[in-house]
Amino acid sequence: MTKETIFSRIIKGELPCDEVFSDDKCIAFRDVQPQAPIHILVIPKKPIISLIEAGEEDKELLGHLLLVSKKIAKKEGLGNWRTVINTGSEAGQTVFHLHIHVIGGREMKWPPG
Ligand code: AMP
Repeated sequence: MTKETIFSRIIKGELPCDEVFSDDKCIAFRDVQPQAPIHILVIPKKPIISLIEAGEEDKELLGHLLLVSKKIAKKEGLGNWRTVINTGSEAGQTVFHLHIHVIGGREMKWPPG
């Protein structure tokens, strides 16, 4: 059983979000604490805790999320952007429902902190 998270509550419609896209498999909305002019989260409606918990059966879903994140980036007018999946608390994951960050609209540094 996966625990309820802020994102599972957004999926259920219990919490508001600034939605930019949704379909039967995922929802995308603007991050409340944007790290760049464009900062959008793409999340599966399926409650996968993190990439560690994703399995072979999620192959198509994971591909879908990446393609959706690309479509959103292009729709937002981005030609360059960063796609991030933080996996585990030491990597910076704070919400334990898989999500892809789409970050752009400013120059990025590498390596990230
Ligand atoms: P991570 O640190 O990779 O787990 O990313 C979680 C992200 O969710 C952070 O960038 C937060 O700013 C963002 N966040 C937390 N709560 C909300 C919310 N209610 N709506 C939109 N973004 C949120």
